[in-house]
Amino acid sequence: MEKEIKHEWISYNRCMVKGCHNKKHEGNFIGSMCIPCYEMITTGVVKPGTTFINDIYGDLKSVLGWLELLKSTIEKYRGRV
Ligand SMILES: [Zn+2]
Repeated sequence: MEKEIKHEWISYNRCMVKGCHNKKHEGNFIGSMCIPCYEMITTGVVKPGTTFINDIYGDLKSVLGWLELLKSTIEKYRGRV
């Protein structure tokens, strides 16, 4: 039986990607990484999840939303000031 060793966020029975909660006995892994994380990292397609990748993706989408709002506001007032 594999002993689970916990650090801040690392557990040898869990996926190695920070924030991922998938455990080795619950699904398919490639080495220490679960298949969903492996596919996100290798394809660049981010699917819903709890990893740091999802956090960064969410932040990026938020920033892009604000930039789009700024762009539309600038277009709205262009030539009026
Ligand atoms: Zn994972």
